[in-house]
Parts: sequence; structure tokens; C-alpha cells
Amino acid sequence: MSEEIQSLPDKAWARVRAKLRQEFGESVYRSWFKPLILRGVDGSKVELSAPTTFMQERIEAQYSDRINAIWKLESGGSITTLGITVLSASSSENFGLNNLELKQDSKTPLVSKNVKVDNPLEAALDSRFTFENFVVGKPNELAYAAAQRVAGSDDVNFNPLFLYGGVGLGKTHLMHSIAWEIRRRDPSRRVLYLSAEKFMYQFIRALRFKDTMAFKDQFRSVDVLMIDDVQFIGGKDSTQEEFFHTFNALVDQNRQVVVSADKSPNDLEGLEERLRSRLGWGLVADIHPTTYELRLGILQSKVEKIGVHVPIKVLEFLAHKITSNVRELEGAMNRITAHATLVGRDITLEATQEVLHDLLRAYDRRVTVEEIQRQVASHYQVRMGDMHSARRSRAVARPRQIAMYLSKQLTQHSLPDIGRRFGGRDHTTVLHAVKKVDELCAVDVGFKDDVEFLRRMLET
Ligand code: ADP
Ligand code: MG
Repeated sequence: MSEEIQSLPDKAWARVRAKLRQEFGESVYRSWFKPLILRGVDGSKVELSAPTTFMQERIEAQYSDRINAIWKLESGGSITTLGITVLSASSSENFGLNNLELKQDSKTPLVSKNVKVDNPLEAALDSRFTFENFVVGKPNELAYAAAQRVAGSDDVNFNPLFLYGGVGLGKTHLMHSIAWEIRRRDPSRRVLYLSAEKFMYQFIRALRFKDTMAFKDQFRSVDVLMIDDVQFIGGKDSTQEEFFHTFNALVDQNRQVVVSADKSPNDLEGLEERLRSRLGWGLVADIHPTTYELRLGILQSKVEKIGVHVPIKVLEFLAHKITSNVRELEGAMNRITAHATLVGRDITLEATQEVLHDLLRAYDRRVTVEEIQRQVASHYQVRMGDMHSARRSRAVARPRQIAMYLSKQLTQHSLPDIGRRFGGRDHTTVLHAVKKVDELCAVDVGFKDDVEFLRRMLET
């Protein structure tokens, strides 16, 4: 075979590996795909080799379909089958493979011994996410106080602590803060923090490899279990079931459980009733959308920390404009300071507007629920207060439903979130409004024109 021909599979293999890395993430890639070696291509079959039988079996069970599919794609359809063989230890050393992985026998899990990992399930904690770096304001004071209580006491006061709120409002930050604080106070307490997504992934993996016992043990031996973004397991029945049992086992042993989600236990979709109610047993603390004061406070604290001079006018401008969540606020701030450092110019209001030009334009076009309420109220000549009130007369209820409908259509807010902004109504009320307006639009042309008119007014 000439060198030229031989390099073709190599190139395809590089692309396949890049895809795998992208799809499964760095750590899965490093554990499972990086040690694979391309042996060659024989007709429409590609041969890969794994360093151990253990790896070969698991890759075949778990990843071979996907690897095969990607090969097919990357080879333009010329490769249709995949073979994975085991490379003998002596020959594999010639390929410069990591000896560590070669020594794995079929019983030890694949965790690199170079890194100290107490529990392979453990997700890394962000060193910036501490209580100290968390700015407290009205919208998050309850969640903050509850998190501090959990972190600062050895007794379990409420179980679980359930933190919820929209994206980018500080849930993960608070959870990491709890973990840091508990470890600082008592390094011997075992704290396990992980995302619900990872919990599910690991559970499915354990099922597939029939080692659910080990999986269960890993969870049931911790002192504090924290599961982030638990909405993720909605609709995934067997994972929910397992989570429910893990949860009960820990609570029974008086271990602390902390859970976060984007909605309250009641509003979580696809969750079994018993889990939903169990999650609401402890303390449920919500984080509200930010206020202007909190946004300004966060910006000030951030500026202090990075030690650049930013005029207060710029901070006020940002706090006023970037209202969606803290993550976007931080992003905007980072862009401004990065720009200033790069071009070596002072940060001014003009420069800020210039640098954030695209972001700000998107914001100016984004309609808020409040604007929708105002526009609809004025169109139907009802009071703004009626959007939040409990009055049920048709004259105010209908405009209110239209405003809910338009909020669902024109903003990114979820049904529960919209309900909250209409005087704390339930998400089913919003859902009902959306259906009702749709129905009326279908049968009443005049009504439909009205709604369309309002939509156009709000969109431009
Ligand atoms: P969530 O998990 O709710 O989506 P995160 O905890 O990831 O949100 O927060 C998003 C970003 O905003 C993080 O960088 C976090 O440090 C920051 N942040 C959120 N709330 C605050 C706060 N009150 N004080 C300081 N930083 C905050
Ligand atoms: Mg988060």
C-alpha cells in the first residue's frame, strides 16, 4: 500500500475522533476513545484495537454503534462495519500507550490513577462559586440564607433543600458554595455534587454493565448529596425511580440532600407524583429574577475583584440594560474589560455601547412581559393592576388571557414563570389562556385581528 492511500484512513480516523470528542466530551473521550488505535481498513470494514479486554467489551457494548455511524459518515459511506480487537500488552507498548491503562484488569473501573478522585461521579467544583463571591439581594436572600444554614450546621434542619429559579440566577453557584463550606468546616464529611444529567448517565451505564450495586453504594455512603438541574430527569422513569430510592435511603439515614431545578417541585414536568411531593417536603427556596439593585451590586463586586476601573455610569447602564440573568450580565462585563485590556483604552459609556452593540440591539428588541401587559391593558382600557388582580369578570379576564398568550409567544419565559408575573397564577391557568385565545382566534376574525395587531405593535 502506498503512503498516500494509507493516510486516508488515518485522516478519516482523526475526524472520527474529533467527532467523538465533541459528542461525548473530554473525559469520556480520554477514558474510552483516545486509547483506541486504528489497525487498518479491510474493504468496507475498519479495524480498531483497544488496550484491554475490559475496554474492548465495554466499548462494544456502549459505543460501537455510534463509532460505526460516524465512520460511515466520515468515509462517505465506504465503511460499513467496525471490528474492535484487543492489542496484546507487549505490542501495545510500542504504540506509546499509557501503561496505566494497560494494567487495568477487568474489574477495576477506568479512573486514571494520576488524578486523585475520591469518587468518580464527582463533578469538579468551581473555585469562584463561594458564599463570599455571592452577592445577596432581595431576589435571592431566602435561597442564600437556606444554603448557608445547610452548609453551616451539622444537624439536618430540612431535607431536602430545594433551590429553584430561572437560568443564570445563581443556583449552581449556591450549591458549590455549600460544598466548599462543608468541606472547609469538616474535610472528613463526604459531599457529592453532580448534575442530574450525570446521575442519569451513570445510572444507565451501571444498568448496562450490571453493576448497579456499586452505583448505589457510591451514593448511599455520602454525607451530603447535591443534585443540580433535577428537571433533567423529568420523563426518564427508571432514573427517577432510582433517584427516588437513593433520596429516601439518604433521608432515612439523616443525610443532607440538596436539589436544584428550574421550576418548583409542583411545576416540574414529567415527574412522578411521589417524587414531586417528596421533593417538596423540606425547604423549597426560590431565586427570583434579578432587580436593578442586585445587578448593580453584582457588577460592583465583580469590578472590585478584577481590579479594573469602570465608571459607575457604565455599571448603571449595564444594570439597566442587561436584565435577563446574571450570566449574561457577567458575559457583557467580561467583553468590555477584555476589549479595554486589548486595545489599552479606558472604559467609557461610548466604548461600552460600541463593544456591546449587537447584544444591546438584541435586548432592545426583546419584549418583556411587563411591556406586553402595559400594551394590552391600554388597548383594552383596563388598568395595569388588573393584569395581576384576582378579578374574574370577562372585561378584565379576557385581556389578561391575551397578555398571557402573547407572553408565551413573544418571550422566552416558561409557563410557570409567566404565571408568576401575572399575580402568582398557576402554570395551568396560563396554559388554559393560551388554548382559549387560540380557540377564539379560530372562530372570531375580529378577535384574531386584535391579537395580531397587538403582536405587531409589540414586535416592532
Ligand atoms: P444557574 O445555575 O442558576 O443557571 P449559575 O449559578 O451558573 O446559575 O450562575 C450564573 C453566573 O452568574 C455564575 O457565574 C455565577 O457566579 C453568577 N451569579 C449568579 N448569581 C450571583 C450572585 N448573586 N452574586 C454573584 N454572582 C452570581
Ligand atoms: Mg446551573
